[in-house]
Amino acid sequence: MYDNLFKIVGISKTGLSFCQKITTLWSICGTRSLSDLDVSTSINLVMNAWRARIMQLVDEGWHVPSAPGKVQFMRNCPPVIVRTEDVDRIFQPCCQYHICPWCHSRSIAFLYNKLASFLPIRGGYSTPAFRLLEIRDNRVFVKKSAGKFIASVFKDWINTSRQLMPFLKAAGAYWRATIDPLTTKKGRHLWRLAYSVLDKVPMDYVLPDFVDNGHRTIRYTDMKSRRQLINIVARTCRYPKGMMWGPPDMALVALGVRRRKKCTALYGCFRSSKKNGKTSDNSK
Ligand SMILES: [Zn+2]
Repeated sequence: MYDNLFKIVGISKTGLSFCQKITTLWSICGTRSLSDLDVSTSINLVMNAWRARIMQLVDEGWHVPSAPGKVQFMRNCPPVIVRTEDVDRIFQPCCQYHICPWCHSRSIAFLYNKLASFLPIRGGYSTPAFRLLEIRDNRVFVKKSAGKFIASVFKDWINTSRQLMPFLKAAGAYWRATIDPLTTKKGRHLWRLAYSVLDKVPMDYVLPDFVDNGHRTIRYTDMKSRRQLINIVARTCRYPKGMMWGPPDMALVALGVRRRKKCTALYGCFRSSKKNGKTSDNSK
Protein backbone atom coordinates (compact mmCIF):
# COMPACT_ATOMS: atom_id res chain seq x y z
CA MET A 1 0.00 0.00 0.00
CA TYR A 2 0.95 3.64 -0.30
CA ASP A 3 -0.12 7.07 0.98
CA ASN A 4 -2.90 8.21 -1.33
CA LEU A 5 -2.71 11.85 -2.41
CA PHE A 6 -6.46 12.51 -2.13
CA LYS A 7 -6.34 15.14 -4.83
CA ILE A 8 -8.96 17.76 -3.96
CA VAL A 9 -11.37 18.58 -6.79
CA GLY A 10 -13.95 20.59 -4.84
CA ILE A 11 -15.08 21.91 -1.47
CA SER A 12 -18.40 20.71 -0.10
CA LYS A 13 -20.71 23.63 0.75
CA THR A 14 -23.29 21.89 2.92
CA GLY A 15 -24.16 23.04 6.43
CA LEU A 16 -22.67 19.83 7.80
CA SER A 17 -19.38 20.47 5.97
CA PHE A 18 -19.22 23.98 7.39
CA CYS A 19 -19.84 22.54 10.83
CA GLN A 20 -17.07 19.95 10.31
CA LYS A 21 -14.74 22.73 9.22
CA ILE A 22 -15.29 24.54 12.51
CA THR A 23 -15.17 21.50 14.80
CA THR A 24 -12.08 19.95 13.23
CA LEU A 25 -10.04 22.23 10.93
CA TRP A 26 -10.34 25.32 13.12
CA SER A 27 -9.53 23.34 16.23
CA ILE A 28 -6.48 21.53 14.84
CA CYS A 29 -5.08 24.35 12.67
CA GLY A 30 -5.88 27.10 15.16
CA THR A 31 -7.06 29.39 12.38
CA ARG A 32 -10.44 30.46 11.10
CA SER A 33 -9.71 30.29 7.41
CA LEU A 34 -12.71 30.53 5.13
CA SER A 35 -11.49 30.63 1.53
CA ASP A 36 -11.47 27.43 -0.55
CA LEU A 37 -7.68 27.72 -0.92
CA ASP A 38 -7.29 27.95 2.85
CA VAL A 39 -9.54 24.93 3.32
CA SER A 40 -7.49 22.87 0.85
CA THR A 41 -4.28 23.89 2.61
CA SER A 42 -5.75 23.05 6.00
CA ILE A 43 -6.99 19.65 4.80
CA ASN A 44 -3.47 18.77 3.63
CA LEU A 45 -1.94 20.06 6.86
CA VAL A 46 -4.33 17.98 8.98
CA MET A 47 -3.78 14.90 6.80
CA ASN A 48 -0.03 15.14 7.26
CA ALA A 49 -0.44 15.75 11.00
CA TRP A 50 -2.74 12.72 11.33
CA ARG A 51 -0.32 10.46 9.46
CA ALA A 52 2.56 11.64 11.64
CA ARG A 53 0.44 11.18 14.76
CA ILE A 54 -0.29 7.55 13.91
CA MET A 55 3.44 6.84 13.70
CA GLN A 56 4.12 8.64 17.01
CA LEU A 57 1.45 6.56 18.73
CA VAL A 58 2.76 3.34 17.19
CA ASP A 59 6.19 4.21 18.59
CA GLU A 60 4.54 4.68 22.00
CA GLY A 61 3.00 1.20 21.75
CA TRP A 62 -0.51 1.87 20.41
CA HIS A 63 -2.09 -1.58 20.13
CA VAL A 64 -4.82 -0.67 17.58
CA PRO A 65 -2.70 -0.74 14.42
CA SER A 66 -1.14 -4.10 15.31
CA ALA A 67 -3.09 -5.93 12.57
CA PRO A 68 -1.22 -6.25 9.26
CA GLY A 69 -1.87 -3.26 7.01
CA LYS A 70 -3.83 -1.37 9.69
CA VAL A 71 -1.37 1.52 9.89
CA GLN A 72 -1.59 2.15 6.17
CA PHE A 73 -5.37 1.77 6.27
CA MET A 74 -5.58 4.51 8.92
CA ARG A 75 -3.15 6.75 7.05
CA ASN A 76 -5.51 6.57 4.07
CA CYS A 77 -8.71 7.39 5.96
CA PRO A 78 -10.59 9.64 3.45
CA PRO A 79 -10.89 13.33 4.39
CA VAL A 80 -14.23 15.10 4.83
CA ILE A 81 -15.34 18.61 3.74
CA VAL A 82 -13.75 18.15 0.31
CA ARG A 83 -14.48 16.09 -2.80
CA THR A 84 -11.54 14.08 -4.07
CA GLU A 85 -10.81 12.06 -7.17
CA ASP A 86 -12.78 8.87 -7.84
CA VAL A 87 -9.86 6.62 -7.01
CA ASP A 88 -10.44 7.55 -3.37
CA ARG A 89 -13.57 5.39 -3.24
CA ILE A 90 -11.41 2.36 -2.59
CA PHE A 91 -10.39 3.89 0.75
CA GLN A 92 -12.64 3.44 3.77
CA PRO A 93 -13.03 5.32 7.09
CA CYS A 94 -10.76 3.98 9.84
CA CYS A 95 -13.44 4.54 12.55
CA GLN A 96 -10.97 5.86 15.17
CA TYR A 97 -13.51 8.50 16.24
CA HIS A 98 -11.58 9.59 19.31
CA ILE A 99 -8.51 10.73 17.41
CA CYS A 100 -8.84 10.50 13.61
CA PRO A 101 -9.85 14.03 12.51
CA TRP A 102 -11.90 12.74 9.59
CA CYS A 103 -13.80 10.08 11.55
CA HIS A 104 -14.35 12.56 14.39
CA SER A 105 -15.93 14.87 11.79
CA ARG A 106 -18.06 12.07 10.39
CA SER A 107 -19.29 11.22 13.89
CA ILE A 108 -20.94 14.65 14.36
CA ALA A 109 -23.31 14.06 11.42
CA PHE A 110 -25.83 12.31 13.64
CA LEU A 111 -26.13 15.24 16.06
CA TYR A 112 -26.18 17.78 13.23
CA ASN A 113 -29.00 15.97 11.41
CA LYS A 114 -30.95 15.42 14.61
CA LEU A 115 -30.85 19.13 15.52
CA ALA A 116 -31.68 20.05 11.91
CA SER A 117 -34.87 17.99 12.25
CA PHE A 118 -35.83 20.25 15.18
CA LEU A 119 -35.59 23.46 13.13
CA PRO A 120 -38.84 25.19 12.12
CA ILE A 121 -39.91 24.26 8.59
CA ARG A 122 -39.11 27.05 6.14
CA GLY A 123 -42.29 29.03 5.47
CA GLY A 124 -43.94 27.48 8.54
CA TYR A 125 -44.23 28.85 12.04
CA SER A 126 -41.34 31.21 12.78
CA THR A 127 -41.61 30.93 16.54
CA PRO A 128 -39.98 27.77 17.88
CA ALA A 129 -41.91 25.81 20.49
CA PHE A 130 -38.77 24.82 22.38
CA ARG A 131 -35.28 25.95 23.32
CA LEU A 132 -31.98 24.19 23.46
CA LEU A 133 -30.30 24.28 26.84
CA GLU A 134 -26.52 23.80 26.85
CA ILE A 135 -24.69 22.85 30.03
CA ARG A 136 -20.90 22.58 30.08
CA ASP A 137 -18.28 21.99 32.70
CA ASN A 138 -14.59 21.17 32.69
CA ARG A 139 -11.82 20.36 35.11
CA VAL A 140 -8.04 20.48 34.66
CA PHE A 141 -5.33 18.27 36.20
CA VAL A 142 -1.55 18.48 35.90
CA LYS A 143 0.26 15.82 33.89
CA LYS A 144 1.84 14.04 36.84
CA SER A 145 -1.69 12.82 37.62
CA ALA A 146 -1.36 10.18 34.91
CA GLY A 147 -2.42 6.67 34.03
CA LYS A 148 -4.73 4.88 36.47
CA PHE A 149 -5.44 8.04 38.45
CA ILE A 150 -6.71 9.96 35.45
CA ALA A 151 -8.79 6.93 34.37
CA SER A 152 -10.39 6.85 37.81
CA VAL A 153 -11.06 10.61 37.79
CA PHE A 154 -12.58 10.40 34.30
CA LYS A 155 -14.87 7.58 35.44
CA ASP A 156 -16.07 9.69 38.41
CA TRP A 157 -16.44 12.69 36.11
CA ILE A 158 -18.68 10.70 33.75
CA ASN A 159 -20.80 9.27 36.55
CA THR A 160 -21.26 12.65 38.27
CA SER A 161 -22.26 14.45 35.07
CA ARG A 162 -24.74 11.75 34.08
CA GLN A 163 -26.37 11.91 37.51
CA LEU A 164 -27.65 15.33 36.43
CA MET A 165 -29.78 13.91 33.64
CA PRO A 166 -32.87 12.68 35.57
CA PHE A 167 -33.22 16.11 37.23
CA LEU A 168 -33.27 18.05 33.96
CA LYS A 169 -36.60 16.55 32.83
CA ALA A 170 -36.03 17.48 29.20
CA ALA A 171 -37.91 16.13 26.17
CA GLY A 172 -34.60 14.74 25.04
CA ALA A 173 -30.89 15.18 25.57
CA TYR A 174 -27.44 14.53 24.14
CA TRP A 175 -24.55 14.03 26.57
CA ARG A 176 -20.88 13.95 25.67
CA ALA A 177 -17.67 13.70 27.73
CA THR A 178 -14.15 14.36 26.47
CA ILE A 179 -10.58 14.14 27.71
CA ASP A 180 -7.97 16.38 26.15
CA PRO A 181 -4.20 16.18 26.83
CA LEU A 182 -3.34 19.87 26.58
CA THR A 183 -0.04 21.69 26.27
CA THR A 184 -0.18 25.32 27.43
CA LYS A 185 1.70 28.18 25.76
CA LYS A 186 4.25 27.94 28.56
CA GLY A 187 4.82 24.26 27.76
CA ARG A 188 2.93 22.82 30.73
CA HIS A 189 1.11 19.54 30.13
CA LEU A 190 -2.41 19.23 31.51
CA TRP A 191 -5.43 16.96 31.35
CA ARG A 192 -8.69 18.72 30.59
CA LEU A 193 -11.84 16.72 31.33
CA ALA A 194 -15.07 18.21 30.01
CA TYR A 195 -18.69 17.33 29.43
CA SER A 196 -21.52 18.92 27.50
CA VAL A 197 -25.25 18.38 27.73
CA LEU A 198 -27.74 19.49 25.08
CA ASP A 199 -31.33 19.48 26.29
CA LYS A 200 -34.47 20.09 24.29
CA VAL A 201 -36.71 21.97 26.72
CA PRO A 202 -40.00 23.93 26.50
CA MET A 203 -39.89 27.73 26.19
CA ASP A 204 -41.05 28.16 29.83
CA TYR A 205 -38.50 25.68 31.19
CA VAL A 206 -37.14 26.37 34.66
CA LEU A 207 -33.69 24.98 35.45
CA PRO A 208 -33.36 23.33 38.89
CA ASP A 209 -31.44 25.77 41.14
CA PHE A 210 -28.65 23.37 42.06
CA VAL A 211 -27.61 22.86 38.41
CA ASP A 212 -26.37 26.45 38.00
CA ASN A 213 -23.66 26.11 40.67
CA GLY A 214 -21.32 28.80 39.33
CA HIS A 215 -18.88 26.31 37.77
CA ARG A 216 -21.09 25.23 34.89
CA THR A 217 -21.72 27.29 31.75
CA ILE A 218 -25.46 27.54 31.06
CA ARG A 219 -26.80 28.81 27.74
CA TYR A 220 -30.24 28.84 26.10
CA THR A 221 -30.87 29.11 22.35
CA ASP A 222 -34.23 29.57 20.66
CA MET A 223 -33.61 27.31 17.69
CA LYS A 224 -34.53 29.29 14.58
CA SER A 225 -31.66 29.07 12.12
CA ARG A 226 -29.06 26.71 10.72
CA ARG A 227 -26.35 29.13 11.84
CA GLN A 228 -27.40 28.59 15.47
CA LEU A 229 -27.40 24.85 14.87
CA ILE A 230 -23.84 24.95 13.50
CA ASN A 231 -22.59 26.99 16.45
CA ILE A 232 -24.17 24.63 18.97
CA VAL A 233 -22.72 21.50 17.35
CA ALA A 234 -19.32 23.22 17.04
CA ARG A 235 -19.29 24.08 20.75
CA THR A 236 -20.40 20.58 21.74
CA CYS A 237 -18.24 18.44 19.43
CA ARG A 238 -15.01 20.40 18.99
CA TYR A 239 -12.06 18.12 18.20
CA PRO A 240 -9.82 17.85 21.31
CA LYS A 241 -6.70 19.33 19.73
CA GLY A 242 -4.37 17.81 22.32
CA MET A 243 -5.13 14.43 20.73
CA MET A 244 -3.27 15.70 17.67
CA TRP A 245 -0.67 18.04 19.18
CA GLY A 246 -0.31 17.00 22.83
CA PRO A 247 2.41 14.63 24.11
CA PRO A 248 1.98 11.20 22.43
CA ASP A 249 2.17 9.33 25.74
CA MET A 250 -0.72 11.41 27.11
CA ALA A 251 -2.76 10.95 23.93
CA LEU A 252 -2.24 7.21 24.24
CA VAL A 253 -3.48 7.25 27.84
CA ALA A 254 -6.50 9.32 26.77
CA LEU A 255 -7.33 6.79 24.05
CA GLY A 256 -7.12 3.95 26.55
CA VAL A 257 -9.32 5.77 29.07
CA ARG A 258 -11.96 6.64 26.47
CA ARG A 259 -11.94 3.19 24.91
CA ARG A 260 -13.16 1.65 28.15
CA LYS A 261 -15.90 4.24 28.74
CA LYS A 262 -19.05 5.26 26.93
CA CYS A 263 -18.45 8.93 26.16
CA THR A 264 -21.74 9.87 24.48
CA ALA A 265 -25.35 9.10 25.37
CA LEU A 266 -28.76 9.93 23.92
CA TYR A 267 -31.98 10.47 25.82
CA GLY A 268 -35.62 10.79 24.81
CA CYS A 269 -36.25 12.44 21.44
CA PHE A 270 -32.52 12.48 20.61
CA ARG A 271 -32.59 8.75 20.19
CA SER A 272 -32.93 7.47 16.66
CA SER A 273 -35.43 4.92 17.97
CA LYS A 274 -39.03 6.13 18.30
CA LYS A 275 -39.31 4.80 21.84
CA ASN A 276 -38.90 7.91 23.97
CA GLY A 277 -37.95 8.12 27.59
CA LYS A 278 -35.22 5.50 27.75
CA THR A 279 -31.49 5.98 27.54
CA SER A 280 -29.47 4.76 24.62
CA ASP A 281 -25.71 4.70 24.82
CA ASN A 282 -23.40 5.18 21.91
CA SER A 283 -19.79 4.45 22.62
CA LYS A 284 -18.27 6.39 19.75
ZN1 LIG B 1 -10.53 7.85 10.22
